[in-house]
Amino acid sequence: MSTPSLLILPGDGIGPEVMAEVVKVIDWFGAKRDLPFEVSEDLVGGAAYDKHGTPLHDDTMARAQEVDAVLLGAVGGPKYDDLDFSLKPERGLLRLRKEMDLFANLRPAQCFDALADFSSLKRDVVAGLDIMIVRELTSGIYFGEPRGIFKEGNERVGVNTQRYTESEIERVARSAFELARKRGNKVCSMEKANVMESGILWREVVQKVHDADYADVELSHMYADAGAMQLCRWPKQFDVIVTDNLFGDILSDAAAMLTGSLGMLPSASLGAPMENGRPKALYEPVHGSAPDIAGQGKANPIACILSFAMALRYSFDLGEEATRVEKAVEKVLADGKRTADLLGEDGIEPVSTSEMGDAILAAL
Ligand code: ATP
Ligand code: MG
Repeated sequence: MSTPSLLILPGDGIGPEVMAEVVKVIDWFGAKRDLPFEVSEDLVGGAAYDKHGTPLHDDTMARAQEVDAVLLGAVGGPKYDDLDFSLKPERGLLRLRKEMDLFANLRPAQCFDALADFSSLKRDVVAGLDIMIVRELTSGIYFGEPRGIFKEGNERVGVNTQRYTESEIERVARSAFELARKRGNKVCSMEKANVMESGILWREVVQKVHDADYADVELSHMYADAGAMQLCRWPKQFDVIVTDNLFGDILSDAAAMLTGSLGMLPSASLGAPMENGRPKALYEPVHGSAPDIAGQGKANPIACILSFAMALRYSFDLGEEATRVEKAVEKVLADGKRTADLLGEDGIEPVSTSEMGDAILAAL
């Protein structure tokens, strides 16, 4: 198999700081595990705007379409607040997602034991938690037409349309079932089939895909509001949750915060398989560019490092190596190393971004 290729887009704010630690991990795999990656690096967001006057250069877009996986840091910052909408840093990321057609957004909520007391929930509710939310990312109410603010009689009306085609539901359902087979073999599909037509179709299509091709995976259906309640009450009942764009936006944020800091949360966005069988893929931490702490060496690099671990697992089929990275993170946390975002009131001295990266390398 040819050398796997990675495009690294550090972006803005703390993006370059956390990405520098990921590069150490990538280099470690080349040197110590004989797993070299062909790495290219480019600009996105405000950094790209500063150089090219656009948040994503066409050459960068083209490169993103060629590589096996894109790894992104974060985009945005107050410096760009007054830019025209089409030039804003976030547009660079949205263009990547749209042109790569990344329809399945994977957000794990995983609780490292050492941080279980950090959650707002009781330890036994979250300790050992390992669930995955698959959110449909390219359709639904955020995109459906008609949309807009219209005049109706003598007042205005704000309109959005929830719209899903069978094929859009089918492809995200397949992603969820494939994923479940690599995990706990269980999928819970969430919608509001009791009050929404799109929910009725969603439930029907997910069930049909299951019965035809994934009967070995345990499937259940839940109304999204009940699902939100269950997610907070006893999240360990779930393995993979598959849901639409709007519900997934809300449920994945809620699930993520079961486990502590934004600085811990990775994500993957996957599209259709390429010629080599690998899905188009973009990996990024859930957090943003954190302008309040940028340039201070305070950022937690774990979310970005765990995003690379997801790349190992989902783009390169290196599940064991991904686990190796996750175990290294777990060990460092168990040893008591904490960046500032992971500290409570207990007076531990925080480590810097690069000290955290070095500790993870040592644990590897
Ligand atoms: P965006 O709109 O880009 O999502 P945001 O304003 O929602 O950005 P973040 O940039 O993610 O949010 O930051 C939210 C808060 O979390 C900030 O106070 C930031 O300092 C903190 N934070 C985010 N990421 C990290 C990290 N990796 N390490 C430490 N603190 C972080
Ligand atoms: Mg945000």
